[in-house]
Amino acid sequence: MNTTWKDDTVTLARSVNAVRFDAEKARADFPALHQDVHGQRLVYLDSAASTQKPQVVIDTLSEFYSRQYSNVHRGVHHLSQIATDLYEGARSTVRSFLNARHDEEIVFVRGTTEAINLVAQTFGRSEIGPGDEVIVSEMEHHANIVPWQMICQEKGAQLRVIPIDANGDLQLDHFEEMITPRTKIVAVTHVSNALGTVNPVREIIRIAHAYNVPVLLDGAQSSQHLPIDVQELDCDFFTLSGHKIYGPTGIGVLYGKRELLERMPPYQGGGDMILSVTFEKTTYNEIPYKFEAGTPNIAGAIGLAAALKYFRGFDIDALVAHEKELLDYATGRLEDIDALRMIGTARERASSLSFTLCAVHPHDIGTILDKQGIAIRAGHHCAQPVMQKFGIPATARASFAMYNTREDVDRLVEGIKQVLEVFT
Ligand code: PMP
Repeated sequence: MNTTWKDDTVTLARSVNAVRFDAEKARADFPALHQDVHGQRLVYLDSAASTQKPQVVIDTLSEFYSRQYSNVHRGVHHLSQIATDLYEGARSTVRSFLNARHDEEIVFVRGTTEAINLVAQTFGRSEIGPGDEVIVSEMEHHANIVPWQMICQEKGAQLRVIPIDANGDLQLDHFEEMITPRTKIVAVTHVSNALGTVNPVREIIRIAHAYNVPVLLDGAQSSQHLPIDVQELDCDFFTLSGHKIYGPTGIGVLYGKRELLERMPPYQGGGDMILSVTFEKTTYNEIPYKFEAGTPNIAGAIGLAAALKYFRGFDIDALVAHEKELLDYATGRLEDIDALRMIGTARERASSLSFTLCAVHPHDIGTILDKQGIAIRAGHHCAQPVMQKFGIPATARASFAMYNTREDVDRLVEGIKQVLEVFT
């Protein structure tokens, strides 16, 4: 059963009563998890960077390249028609996954980074002028900062930043004051990759829309952990990265409301994005093709559709409950370690735990854990302003997905104790 997502808090609470999620059964679908690393069973806690792939996605890619492969669109031959049907079918699968109204609102891109650059370079190029303002938050990934900075610099506009508090919650009371008649767009992350914070995006959208300001949600870290319904959210743009939701790399999605996409100029020029070309004048194609210049990532889109169908085969309430239970369990166990400082203790969190360990550099934590077969990420997580906020250069981050279990958390805790032994 797939739920309609009303409010992140309500769903997180309701998920406690959901049917039990069988993580062991899910694990069995992911071949990469069934290997030893440095002589120990792999514990993969780096899914916020990228998730592992279920067999069905691998098989779908293999079948496509083995028997169905051709370029898409305009082909009159059999394989081209099969590939086109699969590629456009993938668009419909994404539309249904996000509950968008129209297939044309789904643009295939390389990932969240390209999706945000596309909006900044098209919506931004046409709608932002000197003295205008763009609002982001202090917890954004660089992918949701730099593209806006670039267009603001080019246009003489200003980037404004919603601050976060010491827990990693957005200081929303500042937000409404920041909106002015010059605000052209609000671009915020749904879930923070560095802190795990789940943002009150409905409230942000409600406030922004009261001033007729469109909102882009960076869904790179939410689409795989929370049910997404873009109509119910009423966001104007939503982005996701296929590789973070059990799909292939090099494919992602920009959802945009039809009237906005239609208004925006094209992104890149080339084949497929045109209706006609002469040296004097080019007529652009309709959406979404206007934004998909050149041969697209056909296999990626088809693999992404397979991943989304796989994901939707699970009870989403049960999945949310499983990941929340795991995060709570891990939080409790890590908090028992005196030397450990948790970075990010927001009211609502999903999937990721960031921490530091006395004076041990996060890269050393990551390296020593790796020797025990435990994969985590160490660094600034492409969120340097968050690190600056907390006065640290980097964190160690453990992140969870559907296939993680309490046993993985126990291995992490034992691993951290060994790191401490090395350094004391
Ligand atoms: N935003 C957030 C919140 C992310 O976590 C990431 C990936 N770490 C991105 C944007 C960029 O995604 P991608 O690298 O897939 O384009």
